[in-house]
Amino acid sequence: MIEMKNISILGSTGSIGTQSLDVCDKDPSLKVAALTAYKNTDLLEEQIRKYKPKFAAMYDEASAADLKVRVADTDTVVLSGEEGVCECARQGEMAVTAIVGIAGLRPTLAAIESGCDIALSNKETLVTAGEYVMGYAKEKNVKIVPVDSEHSAIFQSIADQGKFLEKIIITASGGPFFGKKKEELVNVTAADALKHPNWSMGAKITIDSSTLVNKGLEIIEAMHLFGVSVDNIIPVVHRQSIVHSLVEFCDGSVIGQFGVPDMKLPISYALHYPERSIKVSEKLDLAKIGTLTFCEIDHEAFPAVNMAKWAAKQGGSMPAVFNGANEEAVAMFLKGECRFGDITEYISYAMDKHTVVRDTSIEAIEEADRFARRMVREAAGK
Ligand code: NDP
Repeated sequence: MIEMKNISILGSTGSIGTQSLDVCDKDPSLKVAALTAYKNTDLLEEQIRKYKPKFAAMYDEASAADLKVRVADTDTVVLSGEEGVCECARQGEMAVTAIVGIAGLRPTLAAIESGCDIALSNKETLVTAGEYVMGYAKEKNVKIVPVDSEHSAIFQSIADQGKFLEKIIITASGGPFFGKKKEELVNVTAADALKHPNWSMGAKITIDSSTLVNKGLEIIEAMHLFGVSVDNIIPVVHRQSIVHSLVEFCDGSVIGQFGVPDMKLPISYALHYPERSIKVSEKLDLAKIGTLTFCEIDHEAFPAVNMAKWAAKQGGSMPAVFNGANEEAVAMFLKGECRFGDITEYISYAMDKHTVVRDTSIEAIEEADRFARRMVREAAGK
């Protein structure tokens, strides 16, 4: 008999959210208990009609009011605002945290509070408040299973050998601007930056991949998930995105996880852990791929990785400033309000202005986030 699992999908209208629903389509053991979005009412309405969740929420109040009218003929209860999203997070046995940015932090905490396991996609949660979140999950006996392909690979490669782990080798596609020099990058456009070579993702993470801020965020995420210092997390460019990351054990053995670049694979793994389910993506054909290449990151052209490592070493509120400044700068870049080269300049400006706060409470983290956003606007003269 199939054992059913109730899941809530936070950010169900986004790239990871819709792929999580694709996984549910293929797997009758997964039942959708709750769905949330920011303001994409059309898609959330469609999802409500198809998956019939008990609850749905929209962060934006006006969109929630509209949705409520639209789905009045269904049994789904529509909630609104941050508390509505948090209520949805409490509904399943597992929550897929696929909201983008620090907005995902409080809903993730709500899920943990209710004892719901986490399929963690929202990396900003651990980057900003990793110490608090990991401690809280431990206290509540909640499993955090990574969805990010690199972290899923690391998680799977470590298996039960964590005590022998020495290093993590985290792979990076290099993004659309691989091979370009610093001077060539200053004025590239958002349209150029949105063309990722291997993955189709939401706009914010696609820009983060082009600046390599994403790799910096992932290094901090890995530090919290696996308890490894950032100096022992080594990024390496791997253009084909087939080896999703590797680990090195004390005897020198290196174990990695391979797979086609398809997020449905790590999503499905997280939803079924410690079991494995049916195949949800294409099979890997290594002979067809032929060559796998690895090389170092050009840190002069892409300073973000070292900036993230520096922020992690400062600890306290500094990673939240790194993250908040990036969120603000990326939003400006997407609106055409700053240049590509300004993104890391503004992050650097915000971190220079910040005095680390050791208080790791959520309020202190959110204050650091607001500070970072103010500093970016100041740097941009806004
Ligand atoms: P998208 O931008 O595609 O989707 C974001 C989702 O969050 C949407 O459902 C959006 O709703 C919702 N949302 C946005 N802002 C808010 C808010 N303030 N409050 C509540 N909900 C909100 O993002 P992705 O799916 O690409 O990424 C989601 C997370 O997963 C990110 O943290 C990213 O780093 C991580 N990730 C993504 C990968 C990918 O392949 N996409 C890979 C690995 C990690 P609406 O549609 O209404 O705006």
